[in-house]
Amino acid sequence: MKNIINKVLLLVVIICGGSKTGFTQKTSSVKIQYVCTPCGIKCDKEVFAGPGQCPNCKMKLVDKKSIIHKSVSPSDLSKFLKSSKNLVILDVRTKGEFEGHGEPDFGTLKNSVNIPISDLEKGGYKGLDKNKTILVYCSHSHRSSRVSYLLTQNGFKNVVNLLGGMSEVTDNSVRK
Ligand SMILES: [Zn+2]
Repeated sequence: MKNIINKVLLLVVIICGGSKTGFTQKTSSVKIQYVCTPCGIKCDKEVFAGPGQCPNCKMKLVDKKSIIHKSVSPSDLSKFLKSSKNLVILDVRTKGEFEGHGEPDFGTLKNSVNIPISDLEKGGYKGLDKNKTILVYCSHSHRSSRVSYLLTQNGFKNVVNLLGGMSEVTDNSVRK
């Protein structure tokens, strides 16, 4: 009889110990996943264990959950522009690139406004309406994905990044 009680006690200890390990595993699975801000290249889908820099696109790695902006592909751009209301089209390149003096010149979207990324990073977004949808673009979607992230971090709820940027846009009807 004593032997059986001992066995039961041993079993209880094993079960409790086991569930304790289970709990530890559960808490460690809520670890932060780090990603680079989506610009349209392959590394957008890669997940990293810690902060740092993306080895492919060199962008800063951020908490995956903090990326809340949306994206539009160059092939869907025309449809997106036609169907969007209350839209601000934001060109974040330099004034020269916006005016068509870039080398190469990738063109500029119709009805867009220009605030260079260097101004936006100093708070230049303050004049933009947070209730509007902001379509952000540049040449290759490196600057625009950084700006999209910056805007959502500062209270903008409807931000859309043009993946690939103007260099990937083949539809000339959207250009000035
Ligand atoms: Zn990357």
